[in-house]
Amino acid sequence: MGTLVCQDCNKIIDHFEDEKVTVLYSNCKTCCEISEDLNNNK
Ligand SMILES: [Zn+2]
Repeated sequence: MGTLVCQDCNKIIDHFEDEKVTVLYSNCKTCCEISEDLNNNK
């Protein structure tokens, strides 16, 4: 089973079944909203 981890806060977002991948990095909802806010401020 693989783990989906937030690359910003290292929080485990979700688990998924995939034999090839053990850890996948993404952004959780909180960090996604924060980066969207930062982008909007540019
Ligand atoms: Zn996060």
